[in-house]
Amino acid sequence: MPATKRGVISIVSSIFDPCGFLAPFTFRAKCLIQEVWRTGIQWDDKLKTDLEVKWNAWLKELDELKRFQLPRHHIGFTKAATDIEVHLFADASEKGFGSVAYLKYLPDTGNGTCSFVAAKTRVALIKPQLSIPCLELQATVLAVRLWNCLKEELPVLVKHVYFWTDSMTVIQYINNQTRRFKPFVSNRIAEILDSTNSSQWYHVSSDQNPADYCSRGLPASKLTVKHSWFTGPSFLYSDKESWPVQPANNQDVDGTDPEIKISCFVKTNSGTNQEFPLSSLKIRYLMSPERFSTWQRLLRHTAWLLRALRNFLVPVKRLQLTSLTSSHLLPEEYESALLHWTKQAQEDGFPAEIGCLNKHKDLPAGSTLLPLTPSYDEHHLRLQGRLRKGNVPRDTWNQIILPKSHVITDLLLLDAHLKTFHGGVEHMVAQIRERFWPISVRQTAKKIIRQCFLCKKRRASPKVPRMADLPRQGLTTLAPCIQQLVVEQ
Ligand SMILES: [Zn+2]
Repeated sequence: MPATKRGVISIVSSIFDPCGFLAPFTFRAKCLIQEVWRTGIQWDDKLKTDLEVKWNAWLKELDELKRFQLPRHHIGFTKAATDIEVHLFADASEKGFGSVAYLKYLPDTGNGTCSFVAAKTRVALIKPQLSIPCLELQATVLAVRLWNCLKEELPVLVKHVYFWTDSMTVIQYINNQTRRFKPFVSNRIAEILDSTNSSQWYHVSSDQNPADYCSRGLPASKLTVKHSWFTGPSFLYSDKESWPVQPANNQDVDGTDPEIKISCFVKTNSGTNQEFPLSSLKIRYLMSPERFSTWQRLLRHTAWLLRALRNFLVPVKRLQLTSLTSSHLLPEEYESALLHWTKQAQEDGFPAEIGCLNKHKDLPAGSTLLPLTPSYDEHHLRLQGRLRKGNVPRDTWNQIILPKSHVITDLLLLDAHLKTFHGGVEHMVAQIRERFWPISVRQTAKKIIRQCFLCKKRRASPKVPRMADLPRQGLTTLAPCIQQLVVEQ
């Protein structure tokens, strides 16, 4: 067979070794195929010199295996054994990964013995290139799949199954209780834990791990019956007390591990004995009223936002059920939004006055609020009207004062303009003063009307179109019908 890509793949594929007795040897051929594939040569092109040397050396070793024999003694030991264990080892390198399984028999008397059962190898993917911990994880998944196959096929009753790996990272992944991993790791951990228990996984040093041969390869000359590849590691022949000492299993996965899924947590500080102070929230940092064209739209968005904040931040048991589950906003939620923005407008427009009234001092001289004799209740500056003794709602004589030239005042006056069906200044003033007392309200109302597009259209007077020029025929001078006058005598 010529040393071409076709020849290499043909010969390697002709080796029938389903149990993987020669896995460390065939693994080298798989790596060689991968190298040939990377060169990009055609099927019948000759291999490059360095690859041809490797290929010829491997072929020469293949000839040595004609005399290879291995006793399948574990079938004969089955009857004498009272306790049968399966040990599966997994390992990976940058070239690939693999897994190997051994049966251990423990007769009534005498020492136990081990025998090779099966092995599987895989070369590492070219793309995507996986990290060594991910390849180690692939190797453990391969070990689990190998065991799933063996438990269907082995004609013996296996009492214990042990899985061994030399990767502490993988053992930490399997024992992890606190971290969440990216899909690659989490999917494989889920597959591992579907078929095994985390207590079945043990750590073994690399020099005692026979699966190391799966991931690095072995020359054919080393594949003898007494090689540890076939006999298993020496500690399997001793009692469990003499097995490798297991490292402390209390180490959590390192927080800097790139396979950990990054999560975002919001820490809230809502005590159980106090309501969340929603009134102190500055929604302006979350939404800007300047971006809303109407007062109703601003109210609606604010009410939803306040509900979301309340539901997130207040302990659930303190919530009324309706405010959590209703699909529509409640009147009191609209009211909360209204009071929030009017309070915000007053804090923007009258900071000095609010400061003075909070300290029970007189208003600053020259304040625009002096004629209104305002009072400051729990949240708002209010006008002191003279209808206190009348049978009218409080809002009509104790209006909320609003500053001039503020976006909230403008939006409220625009709302009054729309509610009065594009009413004039006095209509708007009467409407808004049912509850609010904006400073210089008429001036602001005129500005709103001037800016209203519909009102602008309605105010416009029709323009008389310019008449076209008169036609030429109408402008030509006609010849007089009587050109000569004859008078008879
Ligand atoms: Zn209008």
